Amino acid sequence: MVAPSSAQAPASQAPASPAAIASPAGVSDSPIASDARLAGDAKQTRFILDLDKAVQFRAFALADPYRVIVDLPQVNFQLPAGVGGAGRGLVKAFRYGVVMPGGSRIVFELTGPARIAKSYVLEAANGQPPRLVLEFEEVDRTAFVQSLAPENRPELRPAIAEANAAVARADAPAAPPSPPDKRPVIVIDPGHGGVDNGTEAGGADVMEKNLVLSFGLALRDRIEKSGKYRVVMTRTDDTFIALPDRVKVARSEAAALFISIHADALARGEGDARGATIYTLSDKATDSDAERLADAENKSDAIGGVSLADEPTEVADILIDLVQRETKTFSNRFARMLMGEMKNTVRMHKHPLKSAGFRVLKAPDVPSVLVELGYVSNKADLEHLVSENWRSRTVGSMAQAIDAFLAKRLATTGPGK
Ligand SMILES: [Zn+2]
Repeated sequence: MVAPSSAQAPASQAPASPAAIASPAGVSDSPIASDARLAGDAKQTRFILDLDKAVQFRAFALADPYRVIVDLPQVNFQLPAGVGGAGRGLVKAFRYGVVMPGGSRIVFELTGPARIAKSYVLEAANGQPPRLVLEFEEVDRTAFVQSLAPENRPELRPAIAEANAAVARADAPAAPPSPPDKRPVIVIDPGHGGVDNGTEAGGADVMEKNLVLSFGLALRDRIEKSGKYRVVMTRTDDTFIALPDRVKVARSEAAALFISIHADALARGEGDARGATIYTLSDKATDSDAERLADAENKSDAIGGVSLADEPTEVADILIDLVQRETKTFSNRFARMLMGEMKNTVRMHKHPLKSAGFRVLKAPDVPSVLVELGYVSNKADLEHLVSENWRSRTVGSMAQAIDAFLAKRLATTGPGK
């Protein structure tokens, strides 16, 4: 989940598992950011990022909430732990991370409307490293809204296109085309990533995005062992993926199953819930807890800097209702089977099956569930979540439920979904 008030920067980019170091080509050439600081007051605030080489960037503001986004080529952030958590002047806090192969983003949360008065990169001079500098200036709302018009900044796009082309070239050695893989596809979706840390209630070194990535990779490895299914991950490293793009992966792969992996947290004073919960999609939340969680998880896109409206569906309107109803039946069936297996090995929440409006579960034609593995705000759960042994047992029971569900489906519908 996302703790909306917290804005800690990642302590490092260290992925949670060695398998996660699947970085795009050319990362070693990435500019290194070694320090960041804020100066000034509530009228004028300056942000300075120390780099080892000059970069191109694009900076723009967004309203409601007031934010400034800086898009950069992929940067290797080696900033001191905790930087960005405490704001100054017009900046409430800032977060940063890799948001796609070849691209990084810094998101500033502002205390109120402010415009980017100046933004530039200084070449190294007088013993100072190259620096990215942003100057924020307080304005009223009207002036802020007027400043939202596209600005004439150095574009990031060419840099990203170049990086992508480099990755493509690296992958290029053309293998002979292999026969199409007809195995059912399971999409595993580790929540959050990049600039979106998920909940940090467990402390900066056990951020949700890292916990769920290692879990997702372990689940993939377990499922792939049988050879019966093809597994597609929505992310295998610390990359931000917008929620609609996760849904798109499920749909474009015509997946037989979509499983989103998360970890929950309660704010202090909101009780001490524990155990795993399995969520399915519903317009109406089963209870206020489920609603709170769906709101928190859906914030991911706002954290990425750009809030996207619901994607128009590609399914013809007349069919969608029918398809959705069928999908819902399968999602609920899988959720029950998953609970049946998990409860033998994993401590479950006292109400382990719930539903709410999770945006990531909205593929109309792919059975989808979201699993909250436990609460990082609960001491016993947190111990489990970081335990290799617990992970292995949980992954085992989930793989069994997946196998049972798909065996039953394939028996009735034949292979190929
Ligand atoms: Zn989450």
